[in-house]
Amino acid sequence: MSMLTGANAIVTGGARGIGRAIVRQFVAEGANVAVFDVAFPEDFETFADEMRAKGAKVEAYAVDITNTESADKAIEEMHAAFGSLDVLVNNAGITRDKLMLRMTDDDWDKVLAVNLKGAFIMTRGTARIMMRQRSGKIVNISSVVGVMGNAGQANYAASKAGLIGLTKSTAKEFASRGITVNAVAPGYVETEMTHVLSEEQRNAFLAVIPLRRGCSPEEVADTITFLSSPRANYITGQVINVDGGMIM
Ligand code: NAD
Repeated sequence: MSMLTGANAIVTGGARGIGRAIVRQFVAEGANVAVFDVAFPEDFETFADEMRAKGAKVEAYAVDITNTESADKAIEEMHAAFGSLDVLVNNAGITRDKLMLRMTDDDWDKVLAVNLKGAFIMTRGTARIMMRQRSGKIVNISSVVGVMGNAGQANYAASKAGLIGLTKSTAKEFASRGITVNAVAPGYVETEMTHVLSEEQRNAFLAVIPLRRGCSPEEVADTITFLSSPRANYITGQVINVDGGMIM
């Protein structure tokens, strides 16, 4: 049997990159997916149609996850349309990299708002439903940078470290209701987010990766799919690094 047969999931930031790889893999494993994103690329509907052709329900919700009102409304709409809410993947994230002395309040606030507060808003909104259901799986996408820090990414690293605290606290709070919460911490993944890095920055990452290559979005999605499935029922509050051995 497939890993996610009949599960109804929300993937934030699922319009492109790692999020889109998660949607593709969830559908391959039998799930239906609501994609919550602020920006849908032109080819998204073609992608969604491909997913629907496999028999899945895949719907796009234009939502800014930093806005409580619109996030809560979209969660309610999704729940009514799909019938249950079994999986939340907090994947939406942004970077505004700058050295500390050049970092503005706005650079700090925007990154914390999307990466950390957005995950809080989505977790609170969906947990209401999962608690009533007495089941659910939440997976937060952190980063190795949240564990080991990175020069020029104080805002991003703080947000990703914050997600680990959110993961562990909600794992403890929700456990008695049958809800698990885990985090995945990818290392260097080849997406549009990392294509903006210079050759020098890229080489600096590759030099500290024992497997000597970047990660594909599909390899991150593999771990997220596992943690979202009943095969991970006894795992909660964990941070799984998907980083080619960068952190051991
Ligand atoms: P990406 O930039 O390709 O995709 C991020 C998606 O989030 C986009 O579709 C964007 O529109 C959406 N988004 C941004 N702000 C939003 C908001 N306010 N509301 C709703 N959606 C919003 O990034 P990616 O590389 O696919 O990264 C996905 C996640 O993985 C992020 O959380 C990122 O921090 C994390 N991550 C990425 C890497 C990497 O190397 N690419 C490494 C570690 C962690």
